[in-house]
Amino acid sequence: MGVMATLQPILTVARAREKHWVGDAFLVSTVFSPNQLDPQILSPFLLMDHAAPKYFPPATKARGVGEHPHRGFETVTFAYAGEVAHRDSHGGGGIIGPGDVQWMTAGSGVVHEEFQSERFTAEGGTFEMVQLWVNLPARLKMTSPRYQGLEGQRFPRIPFGHGVEGRLIAGDLQSLQGPALTHTPITLFDVDFEAASTAQFELAAGTTTLLFVLRGSVRTQRAQIAQQGDLVVLDRASRGSVELEGETGARVLVLNGEPLEEPVFAHGPFVMNTRAEIVEAIHDYQRGLMGTLAPTS
Ligand code: MN
Repeated sequence: MGVMATLQPILTVARAREKHWVGDAFLVSTVFSPNQLDPQILSPFLLMDHAAPKYFPPATKARGVGEHPHRGFETVTFAYAGEVAHRDSHGGGGIIGPGDVQWMTAGSGVVHEEFQSERFTAEGGTFEMVQLWVNLPARLKMTSPRYQGLEGQRFPRIPFGHGVEGRLIAGDLQSLQGPALTHTPITLFDVDFEAASTAQFELAAGTTTLLFVLRGSVRTQRAQIAQQGDLVVLDRASRGSVELEGETGARVLVLNGEPLEEPVFAHGPFVMNTRAEIVEAIHDYQRGLMGTLAPTS
């Protein structure tokens, strides 16, 4: 950009949290959740877990999270190292590897499992994943489940400039379009920085923008140094552009979306608008209405 653009102010910065296990495959730090930050500030995003790079030795039995349900939102899994195998009660399934993204719309309800792939289990290696929960608006909470397995090579490269490469996963940016189908306006991309390289971009006014540092360290909005595990939340009440400078080699995940402005009632694997809808979700799951997984052969 030739002119000095107005930079959007930073609302808050959340630091990395203590790690906990999800199943026996995902040693995660919860980057944000409705318990940690006002869900209205995060909307349309609900929760994000980062399993930072970790070595797993070869094993004979796959590690992961067994059968469990979801309703009312979408789970988006980004594989950065290692492989995840997914299977759900709506017939969705597949293996995602480094650079790939899996976008599962739970909608009215699915039962699924998430394991390290057979090959990764046998060979071992470094494993790094992010799982993001994207909320659905009330009118789409009971939409049909959908599975999108998105291979990394499908993501258009965003030409930010020297030493910076972006991969557009969803939404529109710089006349490019990401391949992921979304239910509401969402733009998602990750950016790799060489040391001392800068990316500038502008997102739609009034939308939520969250910047998560996957590795390295970046200067955001010419002010705040954010490090691996930090989440920078921009103030959507003010307009302006975003400027990120990789202090070192760094990678940042950018989440942007139109806020839903609806009540959020989250309980375990279900995210609805009211308590009554949560009770209904639990009953529907218990009655088998979210389906079951076919036994493995
Ligand atoms: Mn799940």
